[in-house]
Amino acid sequence: MVQLSDQVVMYLEDTYLMELTTEVMAAGRHDDGAAWVAVRRNIFHPQGGGQPADRGWAGEREAAAVRDPATGLVVVRGGFDDLAVGDAVHTRIDAELRLLHAALHTAGHLVEAAGRVEGWTMAGSVHFPGQARIEFTPQDALDDRDKAAARLTEYVEAAVADDLPVTADHDGAGRRIVRLGEAHAAPCGGTHVRSLADLAHVTIGSVKVKKGRVRVSYDAAHRPRA
Ligand SMILES: [Zn+2]
Repeated sequence: MVQLSDQVVMYLEDTYLMELTTEVMAAGRHDDGAAWVAVRRNIFHPQGGGQPADRGWAGEREAAAVRDPATGLVVVRGGFDDLAVGDAVHTRIDAELRLLHAALHTAGHLVEAAGRVEGWTMAGSVHFPGQARIEFTPQDALDDRDKAAARLTEYVEAAVADDLPVTADHDGAGRRIVRLGEAHAAPCGGTHVRSLADLAHVTIGSVKVKKGRVRVSYDAAHRPRA
Protein backbone atom coordinates (compact mmCIF):
# COMPACT_ATOMS: atom_id res chain seq x y z
CA MET A 1 0.00 0.00 0.00
CA VAL A 2 1.42 3.34 -1.04
CA GLN A 3 1.59 5.88 1.77
CA LEU A 4 1.26 9.62 1.37
CA SER A 5 4.40 9.99 3.48
CA ASP A 6 6.38 8.06 0.84
CA GLN A 7 6.10 10.99 -1.55
CA VAL A 8 8.54 13.83 -1.08
CA VAL A 9 6.82 17.13 -1.88
CA MET A 10 9.72 18.92 -3.53
CA TYR A 11 7.78 22.07 -4.43
CA LEU A 12 7.42 22.81 -0.72
CA GLU A 13 11.17 22.59 -0.26
CA ASP A 14 12.29 24.50 -3.33
CA THR A 15 10.05 26.64 -5.52
CA TYR A 16 12.92 27.02 -7.98
CA LEU A 17 13.56 23.32 -8.64
CA MET A 18 12.26 23.05 -12.20
CA GLU A 19 13.38 19.56 -13.21
CA LEU A 20 14.32 16.33 -11.55
CA THR A 21 14.88 12.69 -12.37
CA THR A 22 12.98 10.53 -9.93
CA GLU A 23 11.14 7.22 -9.90
CA VAL A 24 7.58 6.05 -10.28
CA MET A 25 6.23 5.11 -6.83
CA ALA A 26 2.67 4.23 -7.84
CA ALA A 27 0.72 3.77 -11.04
CA GLY A 28 -2.92 3.22 -11.86
CA ARG A 29 -5.91 4.36 -13.87
CA HIS A 30 -8.49 7.04 -13.35
CA ASP A 31 -12.18 6.20 -13.66
CA ASP A 32 -12.09 7.38 -17.28
CA GLY A 33 -9.34 4.86 -18.07
CA ALA A 34 -6.47 7.38 -18.33
CA ALA A 35 -3.22 6.06 -16.89
CA TRP A 36 -1.64 8.03 -14.06
CA VAL A 37 1.62 7.80 -12.18
CA ALA A 38 2.85 9.23 -8.90
CA VAL A 39 6.55 10.01 -8.61
CA ARG A 40 8.65 9.68 -5.45
CA ARG A 41 10.19 13.16 -5.41
CA ASN A 42 7.38 15.27 -6.76
CA ILE A 43 7.91 18.76 -8.24
CA PHE A 44 4.36 19.12 -9.62
CA HIS A 45 2.06 21.46 -7.72
CA PRO A 46 -1.57 20.35 -8.17
CA GLN A 47 -4.36 22.90 -8.20
CA GLY A 48 -5.33 23.81 -4.67
CA GLY A 49 -5.45 26.57 -2.09
CA GLY A 50 -6.50 29.04 -4.79
CA GLN A 51 -3.34 28.33 -6.80
CA PRO A 52 -3.44 26.76 -10.27
CA ALA A 53 -1.58 23.57 -11.15
CA ASP A 54 1.87 23.59 -12.71
CA ARG A 55 2.25 22.82 -16.37
CA GLY A 56 4.62 19.88 -16.46
CA TRP A 57 6.09 16.94 -18.29
CA ALA A 58 7.07 13.43 -17.32
CA GLY A 59 9.48 12.14 -19.93
CA GLU A 60 8.31 13.72 -23.19
CA ARG A 61 4.62 13.76 -22.33
CA GLU A 62 2.62 16.51 -20.77
CA ALA A 63 1.62 15.70 -17.22
CA ALA A 64 -1.41 17.25 -15.54
CA ALA A 65 -0.99 17.15 -11.77
CA VAL A 66 -3.98 16.44 -9.54
CA ARG A 67 -4.29 15.41 -5.93
CA ASP A 68 -5.77 11.92 -5.68
CA PRO A 69 -8.64 12.19 -3.19
CA ALA A 70 -8.26 8.57 -2.03
CA THR A 71 -4.55 8.63 -1.14
CA GLY A 72 -3.72 12.34 -0.97
CA LEU A 73 -0.84 11.72 -3.38
CA VAL A 74 -0.07 14.15 -6.17
CA VAL A 75 -0.52 12.10 -9.33
CA VAL A 76 0.06 13.06 -12.94
CA ARG A 77 -2.17 11.88 -15.72
CA GLY A 78 -1.19 11.79 -19.33
CA GLY A 79 -1.26 8.34 -20.89
CA PHE A 80 1.67 6.83 -19.01
CA ASP A 81 0.82 3.26 -20.00
CA ASP A 82 4.48 2.30 -20.42
CA LEU A 83 5.64 3.44 -16.98
CA ALA A 84 5.71 1.00 -14.08
CA VAL A 85 6.53 1.31 -10.40
CA GLY A 86 10.29 1.64 -9.94
CA ASP A 87 10.97 3.13 -13.39
CA ALA A 88 13.13 6.23 -13.53
CA VAL A 89 11.44 9.22 -15.10
CA HIS A 90 12.62 12.74 -15.87
CA THR A 91 10.13 15.33 -14.70
CA ARG A 92 10.09 19.04 -15.40
CA ILE A 93 7.74 21.98 -15.14
CA ASP A 94 7.15 25.20 -17.05
CA ALA A 95 9.55 27.48 -15.15
CA GLU A 96 8.01 30.79 -16.21
CA LEU A 97 4.55 29.66 -15.17
CA ARG A 98 5.85 28.31 -11.83
CA LEU A 99 7.47 31.68 -11.09
CA LEU A 100 4.32 33.58 -12.04
CA HIS A 101 2.19 31.34 -9.82
CA ALA A 102 4.65 31.68 -6.91
CA ALA A 103 4.75 35.45 -7.31
CA LEU A 104 0.97 35.81 -7.42
CA HIS A 105 0.56 33.42 -4.51
CA THR A 106 3.16 35.18 -2.35
CA ALA A 107 1.67 38.57 -3.23
CA GLY A 108 -1.66 37.17 -2.03
CA HIS A 109 -0.13 36.66 1.42
CA LEU A 110 1.13 40.21 1.26
CA VAL A 111 -2.31 41.57 0.38
CA GLU A 112 -3.76 39.54 3.24
CA ALA A 113 -1.18 41.06 5.57
CA ALA A 114 -2.18 44.55 4.39
CA GLY A 115 -5.84 43.73 4.95
CA ARG A 116 -5.18 42.50 8.49
CA VAL A 117 -3.71 45.90 9.28
CA GLU A 118 -7.09 47.34 8.22
CA GLY A 119 -8.76 45.04 10.75
CA TRP A 120 -10.09 42.73 8.06
CA THR A 121 -10.18 38.91 8.16
CA MET A 122 -9.43 36.94 5.01
CA ALA A 123 -12.48 35.06 3.75
CA GLY A 124 -11.20 33.74 0.42
CA SER A 125 -8.38 33.91 -2.09
CA VAL A 126 -7.80 33.32 -5.79
CA HIS A 127 -4.25 33.43 -7.16
CA PHE A 128 -4.96 32.68 -10.81
CA PRO A 129 -3.18 34.89 -13.36
CA GLY A 130 -5.42 37.72 -14.51
CA GLN A 131 -7.99 37.20 -11.74
CA ALA A 132 -6.00 37.33 -8.52
CA ARG A 133 -7.98 38.67 -5.57
CA ILE A 134 -8.35 38.37 -1.82
CA GLU A 135 -11.72 38.64 -0.11
CA PHE A 136 -12.04 39.93 3.41
CA THR A 137 -14.67 40.24 6.08
CA PRO A 138 -14.27 43.78 7.44
CA GLN A 139 -14.92 44.70 11.05
CA ASP A 140 -16.71 47.88 10.04
CA ALA A 141 -18.36 49.09 6.87
CA LEU A 142 -15.83 50.51 4.44
CA ASP A 143 -16.46 54.21 3.83
CA ASP A 144 -13.75 55.16 1.35
CA ARG A 145 -12.53 52.49 -1.03
CA ASP A 146 -9.98 54.73 -2.74
CA LYS A 147 -8.31 55.60 0.55
CA ALA A 148 -8.29 51.93 1.55
CA ALA A 149 -6.67 51.04 -1.78
CA ALA A 150 -4.03 53.72 -1.20
CA ARG A 151 -3.25 52.35 2.29
CA LEU A 152 -3.01 48.79 0.97
CA THR A 153 -0.70 49.96 -1.80
CA GLU A 154 1.51 51.81 0.65
CA TYR A 155 1.78 48.72 2.90
CA VAL A 156 2.57 46.40 0.01
CA GLU A 157 5.18 48.69 -1.52
CA ALA A 158 6.93 49.18 1.82
CA ALA A 159 7.11 45.42 2.45
CA VAL A 160 8.59 44.80 -1.01
CA ALA A 161 11.10 47.64 -0.49
CA ASP A 162 12.06 46.05 2.85
CA ASP A 163 12.64 42.76 1.00
CA LEU A 164 11.01 40.72 3.78
CA PRO A 165 12.20 37.09 3.73
CA VAL A 166 9.60 34.41 2.94
CA THR A 167 10.10 31.38 5.17
CA ALA A 168 8.20 28.28 6.22
CA ASP A 169 8.21 26.18 9.37
CA HIS A 170 5.85 23.79 11.11
CA ASP A 171 3.78 24.54 14.17
CA GLY A 172 3.01 22.16 17.04
CA ALA A 173 0.04 20.71 15.15
CA GLY A 174 2.25 19.90 12.13
CA ARG A 175 0.79 22.65 9.99
CA ARG A 176 3.13 24.40 7.58
CA ILE A 177 3.25 28.07 8.48
CA VAL A 178 4.47 30.54 5.85
CA ARG A 179 5.90 33.83 7.09
CA LEU A 180 6.69 37.19 5.55
CA GLY A 181 9.41 38.31 7.93
CA GLU A 182 7.75 39.20 11.21
CA ALA A 183 4.88 40.90 9.43
CA HIS A 184 2.64 37.98 8.59
CA ALA A 185 2.11 34.27 9.22
CA ALA A 186 -0.46 31.94 7.69
CA PRO A 187 -0.86 28.18 7.25
CA CYS A 188 -0.13 27.34 3.60
CA GLY A 189 0.94 24.55 1.24
CA GLY A 190 1.63 26.66 -1.83
CA THR A 191 4.79 27.80 -3.63
CA HIS A 192 6.45 31.06 -2.65
CA VAL A 193 9.28 33.33 -3.75
CA ARG A 194 12.39 33.56 -1.53
CA SER A 195 11.92 37.13 -0.42
CA LEU A 196 9.65 39.97 -1.39
CA ALA A 197 12.27 41.62 -3.61
CA ASP A 198 11.64 38.66 -5.95
CA LEU A 199 8.29 40.29 -6.69
CA ALA A 200 7.86 42.80 -9.49
CA HIS A 201 4.93 44.98 -10.47
CA VAL A 202 2.88 44.31 -7.35
CA THR A 203 -0.21 46.42 -7.76
CA ILE A 204 -3.47 46.76 -5.89
CA GLY A 205 -6.29 46.95 -8.40
CA SER A 206 -9.85 47.64 -7.45
CA VAL A 207 -11.27 47.52 -3.93
CA LYS A 208 -14.94 46.53 -4.08
CA VAL A 209 -17.57 45.77 -1.50
CA LYS A 210 -19.96 42.93 -2.29
CA LYS A 211 -22.44 41.39 0.12
CA GLY A 212 -20.54 42.76 3.09
CA ARG A 213 -17.20 41.47 1.86
CA VAL A 214 -14.27 43.55 0.70
CA ARG A 215 -12.75 42.22 -2.50
CA VAL A 216 -9.23 43.40 -3.30
CA SER A 217 -7.92 42.54 -6.75
CA TYR A 218 -4.19 42.60 -7.26
CA ASP A 219 -1.47 41.62 -9.68
CA ALA A 220 2.18 40.64 -9.45
CA ALA A 221 4.98 39.11 -11.47
CA HIS A 222 8.30 37.50 -10.65
CA ARG A 223 11.27 39.76 -11.22
CA PRO A 224 13.33 38.66 -14.22
CA ARG A 225 15.86 36.03 -13.31
CA ALA A 226 19.53 36.83 -13.86
ZN1 LIG B 1 1.19 30.49 0.55
